[in-house]
Amino acid sequence: MMQTPALIDPFARAITYLRVSVTDRCDFRCLYCMSENMTFLPKADLLTLEELDRLCSAFIGMGVEKLRITGGEPLVRKGIMTFFQAMHRHLALGALKELTLTTNGSQLGKFAADLAGCGVRRVNVSLDTLDAEKFADITRWGRLPQVLDGIAAAQAAGIRVKINAVALKGFNEDEQFSLTDWCAREGHDLTWIEVMPMGDLGNENRLDQYWSLRDLRARYAERFTLTDLAERSGGPARYVRIEETGQKIGFITPLTHNFCESCNRVRLTCTGALYMCLGQEDMADLRAPLRASPDNRPLEDAIRAAIAHKPKGHDFDYSRQAVTGQMTRHMSHTGG
Ligand code: SAM
Ligand code: SF4
Repeated sequence: MMQTPALIDPFARAITYLRVSVTDRCDFRCLYCMSENMTFLPKADLLTLEELDRLCSAFIGMGVEKLRITGGEPLVRKGIMTFFQAMHRHLALGALKELTLTTNGSQLGKFAADLAGCGVRRVNVSLDTLDAEKFADITRWGRLPQVLDGIAAAQAAGIRVKINAVALKGFNEDEQFSLTDWCAREGHDLTWIEVMPMGDLGNENRLDQYWSLRDLRARYAERFTLTDLAERSGGPARYVRIEETGQKIGFITPLTHNFCESCNRVRLTCTGALYMCLGQEDMADLRAPLRASPDNRPLEDAIRAAIAHKPKGHDFDYSRQAVTGQMTRHMSHTGG
């Protein structure tokens, strides 16, 4: 593939990481992410698998080295393995360094072996609780045993699993250590995510669900010796090592600004909208240039023009009483 010059934004950040939402649909209805009766996008608005291939391939040709597939639930998109197979060719050629996904784990039992065959070496599985009843409550439609089976299938296929847990006050506070121990036993890394002002927690005030990761970290520090790790992903995650167990724990605090200066990523929705920042409304429509011509040049021009507008940072702010910088779009749309 012809390599065109790298994507550099106005703040001299190289864009090497693309997160792609391949569907807005999901087989769960997590309280903090979706409402019970979601209205999904008309199918015609979605990029086809061929269009997704063309778009991702264009980004890879422009220097993107890491691709994370997300959603909605990426593994409920019909025919999605065709897309993973298509991306495998970029791994094989060395242009793409990592192909990965974020999943709720429900379909891993079915697809783990195929994913491994497509070069997927790591997956992030979202799991907030190990209590089957609480799991059914928070996901509304999810069933814990199915997810645990999926995780086991991934491991059996040689895929490393990282658990992502959303920290929710009054929900999984009491599971901080049991979840940590379970991850240690199973050999999974664990990352905690601060809840963001998105989705729909029913009648509950989202600020009531907000459990600061500072508090969570302090609780670890009471029990263990923590060492800050220099490791940076270019995203909002920070890592510590628990010296007593050797375990790596991540903290994703998207509401702080401390990661924006090293931000290396952009996000593509399933309709071909490119968001330069998770916390800003500014987006570029890539579907129009994609559909307008079989020639990739207008598409590449649109990508470059979009990157030239990548903002310095986002506007979330929980420090005031009201949630400001609140986003109207759902996490399942931009893909988290
Ligand atoms: N369905 C897949 C899954 O659950 O992993 C991928 C999409 S999901 C939108 C991606 C991540 O966003 C999940 O880890 C989920 O927990 C997280 N998420 C969703 N809504 C969130 C919110 N309001 N605040 C913080 N994280 C959220
Ligand atoms: Fe579905 Fe993931 Fe959102 Fe839960 S967090 S509703 S699994 S997209």
